[in-house]
Amino acid sequence: MSYDKELYQQVILDHNKKPRNFREMEDATHSCHGYNPLCGDDYTVYLKISPDNIIEDASFMGSGCAISKSSSSMMTAFLKGKTTEEAKVAFEEFHRMVTGDMDPEKEDHHLGKLKLFVGVREFSSRVKCASLSWHSMVGALEKNEKVTTE
Ligand code: ZN
Repeated sequence: MSYDKELYQQVILDHNKKPRNFREMEDATHSCHGYNPLCGDDYTVYLKISPDNIIEDASFMGSGCAISKSSSSMMTAFLKGKTTEEAKVAFEEFHRMVTGDMDPEKEDHHLGKLKLFVGVREFSSRVKCASLSWHSMVGALEKNEKVTTE
């Protein structure tokens, strides 16, 4: 399957209009605030992780552009039920994909629908929008209070 620009745009618009898991989480075990000064994207990512390292719930809250919001929305949906180890692997893959190091059509990966974000590699300023909440997720796992893309 080749890269589908129309599908990418539809998915971005849909998740921007109706973001999934867009709420604060009272009983989060981990959270991290992320800020992208280049665009103004500003979100907190919340995770609820079980004692055996399963991500039972993931959510986010804040404001920013369509790409950052839709990426956060899809990431939180993706993370539910994954182990923290799987989440870190997905972060590495996502990051390599949006920075152009990994072609999701040619290499094995675990990203599923998230591979749509390969589209941002054409626009370097958008890479930080798409990856901000991923950095926040890893920051939360590492017990950091905040991350910035600079
Ligand atoms: Zn942005």
